[in-house]
Amino acid sequence: MENCIFCKIARGEIPAKIVKETDELVAFNDLSPQAPHHVLIIPKQHISTLAEINENNYELMGKIVLTASEIAKELNLEGYRIVANCNEIAGQSVFHIHFHLLGGRQMHWPPG
Ligand code: AMP
Repeated sequence: MENCIFCKIARGEIPAKIVKETDELVAFNDLSPQAPHHVLIIPKQHISTLAEINENNYELMGKIVLTASEIAKELNLEGYRIVANCNEIAGQSVFHIHFHLLGGRQMHWPPG
């Protein structure tokens, strides 16, 4: 999508600290990290929210979780959290599906 910031990162049009990339996915460091390790994993295909997942694209979500787990292993994380905010009420601010991989500090539950 033309003006989507994460599509621009996926196309290499704006800089990001890329952690991992495949034909279908890109993982890069969050600009405003909420933990010592904070990586965003996105599909290159523009999908706005988790509410748009369907039978044609759900496999991408499994690939994102697999990639998150691979990155966590590479970072030697003892434990980690994967978060995907769906829609503004849940805290989504960029409308291109992304999974946050957070680790490197003690986490608490429930989140705010
Ligand atoms: P969310 O609030 O779940 O939509 O998460 C969006 C995340 O994208 C936030 O954690 C932002 O810090 C992050 N973010 C926004 N723009 C960029 C960017 N250009 N590069 C890296 N991370 C970004």
